[in-house]
Amino acid sequence: MIQEREISRGLSTKEAEKRQSTYGLNELSHKKKSSPILIFLAQFNDFIVWVLIAATVISGLMGDTADAITILIIVVVNAIMGFVQEYRTEKSLEALKELAAPTCKVIRDGVLKVINSIEVTIGDLIILEAGDRIPADGTFIESSGIMIDESLLTGESVGVSKDSKKGKNQGFMGTTVLKGRGILLIDSIGMNTEMGKIANLLDNIEEDKSPLRERLDSLGKILVALCLTICAVVTVLGILRGNEITEMFLLGVSLAVAAIPEGLAAIVTVALALGVSRMLKKNALVRKLPAVETLGCTSVICSDKTGTLTQNKMTVKEIYINGKIHDLDKDQLTNHSTIMKALVYCNDCNYDFNIKNIDKALHGDPTETALIKAFFKDVNLLKSFVSNAKRIYDIPFDSSRKMMSVIVREGTKEVCYMKGAPERVIDKCSHILENGTIKPLTTQKKKQVASYIEAMSNRALRCIAAAYKESNLVKSESLENNLIFLGVAGSIDPPRVEVRDAVLKCKLAGIQPVMITGDHKNTALAIAKSINICNTDDQAMTGEEIETISDEDLMKKVKNVRVFARVSPHHKLRIVKAFKKQNNIVAMTGDGVNDAPAIKEADIGIAMGISGTDVTKEAASMVLMDDNFATIVSAVEEGRVIYDNIRKFIRYLLSCNLGEVLTMFLASLFYLPNPLTPIQILFVNLATDGLPAIALGVDPADKDIMMQQPREKGEGIFARGLWSKIVVRGCLIGICTLLSFMTGRLYGMDLATCRTLALTTLVMSQLLHVFECRSERHSIFEIKVFTNPYLVLAVLVSMIMVCSILYIPFLSGVFNTVPLRLFQWGIVLFYSGIIFMINSLYLFIKSKK
Ligand code: ATP
Repeated sequence: MIQEREISRGLSTKEAEKRQSTYGLNELSHKKKSSPILIFLAQFNDFIVWVLIAATVISGLMGDTADAITILIIVVVNAIMGFVQEYRTEKSLEALKELAAPTCKVIRDGVLKVINSIEVTIGDLIILEAGDRIPADGTFIESSGIMIDESLLTGESVGVSKDSKKGKNQGFMGTTVLKGRGILLIDSIGMNTEMGKIANLLDNIEEDKSPLRERLDSLGKILVALCLTICAVVTVLGILRGNEITEMFLLGVSLAVAAIPEGLAAIVTVALALGVSRMLKKNALVRKLPAVETLGCTSVICSDKTGTLTQNKMTVKEIYINGKIHDLDKDQLTNHSTIMKALVYCNDCNYDFNIKNIDKALHGDPTETALIKAFFKDVNLLKSFVSNAKRIYDIPFDSSRKMMSVIVREGTKEVCYMKGAPERVIDKCSHILENGTIKPLTTQKKKQVASYIEAMSNRALRCIAAAYKESNLVKSESLENNLIFLGVAGSIDPPRVEVRDAVLKCKLAGIQPVMITGDHKNTALAIAKSINICNTDDQAMTGEEIETISDEDLMKKVKNVRVFARVSPHHKLRIVKAFKKQNNIVAMTGDGVNDAPAIKEADIGIAMGISGTDVTKEAASMVLMDDNFATIVSAVEEGRVIYDNIRKFIRYLLSCNLGEVLTMFLASLFYLPNPLTPIQILFVNLATDGLPAIALGVDPADKDIMMQQPREKGEGIFARGLWSKIVVRGCLIGICTLLSFMTGRLYGMDLATCRTLALTTLVMSQLLHVFECRSERHSIFEIKVFTNPYLVLAVLVSMIMVCSILYIPFLSGVFNTVPLRLFQWGIVLFYSGIIFMINSLYLFIKSKK
């Protein structure tokens, strides 16, 4: 039984914890997570690796035991490296899922708290408003015009209204509130809910394959075929030339293992996932991995104003009343009780009268708390003021109507108060109260009032008008008619400090920032100008103007518009479509439930983490944890960095692998002995492919990354000359390695020494090349090497590995190498450094031109 005490104060935290341990958490049974062992075993799920293991075992049985063991160890080490990468990715994705978990508003210990929906328990009181998702099943004990979308359960897309006083008063987990407000008393949670019974899993983060990964998957198949062909040719040529069949076979397979970039597609996911955790540190929570790729192409960012471009710290500065404007910094308002009642009674703030500091005692929308603070500095005075009235009916604020109304009982009277956007409120008024007398609101009076509002808006003030009436209170549409106009409160909401820089950064990066707001055109323009989003008045357009033009005309117009004012959520959808038709990649922010369609339509839908509703968050591909515009810009920058890094390691891996294959291929074409043994090939792969490639994946941004134009969305990963860079460098690495091998032979060195020269040259040219891959535009002289310490470390580790197999006698025995002398190092450094030097000089001279 739920006790009376619980209904008003909710559960106590202690009781809630007790119930959680009795009834369990409010969650649907989880998908099985993949265990670390399975992830490790999956590393061997590759046909070529099995062929290599089989070939190794056979050659081991035929006598080459030491070689066989070494190869197997290398295979296992490779698998461990793959495992570490994949496990990290899995972990960071899991952490993200937890963060993206929905929250809800609950009354506990008599105060409103926001908790993770998973912590909701039986007997909790949940406060629900438009856009909220119901966290568990329960009964409405209070409701005000509440309408629920139950399509998830019933498939029926029409909203269902609920009434706490009638039979239809059940709310179900997973359904969403379309409009109105209510309090739900939870009676079943987790798997006992209707949703649990249907066992419909609501997975929060979609792990769609990114388009890039798909493209790389298919490219991978082509590369595999190509590699296998070359390896087969090398093997067959070797056999024809009288080499031992098993040795050549092992060589061919080792070459295939080393050369096939099987990890390429997977490494893209790793880079995306690592990027996603970096973005999270900057307060951008990515819900859909592919969005990271698209972010880098963003060419238009449509941003809400309030809270995103501005601080959402409202302070009422001016009040227009009785025909004149009062500056609250200078003028103390006295005896304006009717407008005070309208703005305080018609207000959805929650109070906690136990707290004496008024700033902390008020909870709610800053627009609303500001209005109360304009009149009250003292909590006790406010308490006695609000205790004089009891709300009996309300029509909540919604951003399409831009106003709200309440009926309150004051003593024996019932009074209707309204507040909202001035022109909407004036529309509903027939009279005006001035100096205690009610006068007709004539056209001339309206004009006079409008000119004051215009002046206030020009000063960047967000204006809210108030009105009231005492008689004819019928709970119908006519309620909001024939009201008496009271006045206007103008609040200042300063721009966020970091926004000016972020806007400038956008412009340099070829991205157009656009303000979309429900506020007045002049207020919006004043703020937009102050943060350099626009310069002239003709760059603004209103919702009304959007209504009057066709989609075609809107598409033509949007190019020059930087501010959309007095728009309603449904206009946002048309705006996104218009920008998209102009071939833009559009990012669009939103918070309210009505913003969801526009967010879905945008290439990058962005929901607000603080003010956003569950519905918008679910439709979005990214959530801003701090509701800040600057965070969008950093996310775009991060998107560009990740894409660049993916190009960097693709360039590195493919050119190096091409170099390895070509070394062997050219040698067999020219009837030379094999420049590398199977073990050596596998070693080169281990030393160069793993750590340096991963380190490239976390490379910091090129310093001019936000000075470039956004790339085209459909652009292939190899665009802008990447293919030719890979092919040319791959060929040069192959040729130089072979030349190093042949130089050894010319000097009459034995085969083991020549092979050591080839191996060292191959590794060193790759380790030098990895630094060049850090930038496509700058030479090595312009890149600060230590800005990526991971890469320096990875390269050092690889060099230590090479030196170990040269100079530690046991290892040099295993890998059939010899310790190189100074002169021989000279050969190695010459052949591995020559292309590097020429290329760097070329880039350096080019950049100085
Ligand atoms: P955005 O967040 O999209 O930048 P906004 O927050 O200014 O814009 P809305 O919240 O839709 O847009 O507000 C539009 C207008 O509605 C405001 O200019 C104001 O006049 C009025 N308004 C805003 N909040 C309230 C409220 N709580 N009660 C009454 N009127 C309001």
